[in-house]
Amino acid sequence: MTIQPVVLVHGGAGEVPEGMRAAHAEGCRVAAIAGLARLRETGSALEAVVRAVEILEDDPRYNAGTGACLDEEGALALDAAVMEGTSLRAGAVCAMPAFRSPIRIARAVLEDGRHVLYAGEGAARFAIERGFERPDPAAMITDAARERWKNVLAGRADRGWAGGTVGAVACDAEGRVAAATSTGGMVAKRVGRVGDSPILGAGTYADDESGAASATGEGEAILRLTLTRHVCELIVRGASAQEAADAAIARLGAKLGGAGGIIVVDRLGRIGHARNTHTMSWGLAREGHDAHSGH
Ligand code: ASP
Repeated sequence: MTIQPVVLVHGGAGEVPEGMRAAHAEGCRVAAIAGLARLRETGSALEAVVRAVEILEDDPRYNAGTGACLDEEGALALDAAVMEGTSLRAGAVCAMPAFRSPIRIARAVLEDGRHVLYAGEGAARFAIERGFERPDPAAMITDAARERWKNVLAGRADRGWAGGTVGAVACDAEGRVAAATSTGGMVAKRVGRVGDSPILGAGTYADDESGAASATGEGEAILRLTLTRHVCELIVRGASAQEAADAAIARLGAKLGGAGGIIVVDRLGRIGHARNTHTMSWGLAREGHDAHSGH
């Protein structure tokens, strides 16, 4: 059976204001196209998901990299993970201070191979050793992120997950899958809080025996349900990618009252996505087909 290489991207579960929805989804479509182009060049699903996520980290409209939300002290504390499903190699960073592309640092962790997850200043030290520049954090903080943070601290908006997390899943022509997720987490989160995104099996998971998934939404609920691993188990038990995505989000709501979304690709390149929030922007690029998007 031939598999058509595919890249599916999300731009976070939440509620994007109506007037911004089309542009938010279009950003995901552009990232998916870039991911597929990288897949074509390299033949690697891992390279594809890193490329797609990196583009959205640089886009200030999303809650990852530049434009990510702020913690209770007004600082960036970034979480990201990448995993490939063939040898289960993975790399992740969490509660990391400002760096432009957390997903590229996570990927350097994967390549380095000594450890899977680095936190806080240790993650920063690893990044600097690997040649990543430590930027002026102010250059990565947008007016919108600062405004949102001020509103939460002043009690004018709910403390809570920010929306706009980014993630990607991909499958190459040989059925090798990969997943990546990157986020600033929740607005005004406690210092040291780490969400689901950088935790394998919770926000990010990939295994060629089943597929790959990236979750978004209320991190504490996704962590407790190890949602992306759950999706992969459902696929092993015979569910399609779409059935598994639907079942996982139904479980998130029914068991914990959690809100969120998920994107999934199985090892044959079939995709699924589901949400129980108002929106979850997504973009899809598949070899031989027009790319499209939705929310
Ligand atoms: N899941 C992320 C977190 O809790 C937030 C999100 O997906 O919007 O850190």
